[in-house]
Amino acid sequence: MSAVHDSAGPTSPLIDPFGRGIEYLRVSVTDRCDFRCVYCMSEHMTFLPKQDLLTLEELDRLCAAFVRRGVRKLRITGGEPLVRKNILWLFNQLGRHLQTGALDELTLTTNGSQLSKYAQDLKAAGVERVNVSIDTLNPQKFRTITRWGDLSTVLRGLDAAQAAGIKVKINAVALKDVNEDEIVDLIRFAHGRGADLTLIETMPLGDIEEDRTSQYLPLSIVRARLMDTFTLIDDPYRTGGPARYVKVKETGGRLGFITPLTHNFCESCNRVRLTCTGTLYMCLGQDDAADLRRPLRASPDDALLDTAIVQAIARKPKGHDFIIDRPSQKPALARHMSVTGG
Ligand code: SAM
Ligand code: SF4
Repeated sequence: MSAVHDSAGPTSPLIDPFGRGIEYLRVSVTDRCDFRCVYCMSEHMTFLPKQDLLTLEELDRLCAAFVRRGVRKLRITGGEPLVRKNILWLFNQLGRHLQTGALDELTLTTNGSQLSKYAQDLKAAGVERVNVSIDTLNPQKFRTITRWGDLSTVLRGLDAAQAAGIKVKINAVALKDVNEDEIVDLIRFAHGRGADLTLIETMPLGDIEEDRTSQYLPLSIVRARLMDTFTLIDDPYRTGGPARYVKVKETGGRLGFITPLTHNFCESCNRVRLTCTGTLYMCLGQDDAADLRRPLRASPDDALLDTAIVQAIARKPKGHDFIIDRPSQKPALARHMSVTGG
């Protein structure tokens, strides 16, 4: 495979076969969570044995290998990243790449349950922005969707993050018959606190003991309905990711739509995903993956790891092909979102 030779050396940028530069690494630091959101997990999940997890030192080494090769943005996710023991150590370590200028952004996606505890330390580590997932402002509904979560705790976390000077974006999964009547309120709530809101379509990842087709709400419908209430103005703002944005004229805030099922966003994909066991997924919507744990552990220097990373990027597929499989109700991919962190 001549295309995967590391001839340009261990600091050359990662470019995939379709010419897309890989500048964004999402790292799932745990598959565990203190919530059990209905679209993400089943109530009785089997989690990975602790000994299969990479240590925080190993995760740090892996991230450093990607940063050396031009990754400019790291997003820490999970499972719930803030339930991983000692996670602040990792944030503080990764913060050094911000100081050297090698990294533009260190950020995280969280359910917010631990944010009031960690907000100030995260900010001190260099986290300037955080995504917090809130699907409803109704405490009972929040409990129903998350099974175990408490809305007031999450809202306290949101306050703490903003008080610490961290910019917040709120993510909400649009769920048919569950929160579709609340989208206008969620927009007013988020924009009223100076936060962007991004709506996400449910993705068919992992067996969740529920009927996915009953949860699926196309955002094209949501968007059309919102136009009864708001003036939506297309916004060219891009993060290199799947979200497309509008400005809401009446609130002055930004609203994003992540529509993997109704819109193809692969042509500009600049990201790969690392799991807490060191498996690299080159595409959220494909099963192909590369094991980086073996080369990482095989040698204390990074030569084997570098080669494995280059070979993996050479396999990044052109795009995904999500289908919510109606007849069988089976997920399009067996792994849960909590494995790759979205
Ligand atoms: N626990 C953190 C949280 O909830 O923000 C981080 C991990 S969670 C897997 C990341 C994002 O994926 C959340 O915004 C969550 O709502 C979303 N998510 C989980 N399962 C999903 C699914 N099947 N379809 C669409 N989004 C999903
Ligand atoms: Fe946990 Fe996030 Fe999945 Fe909800 S979406 S169960 S908070 S990992």
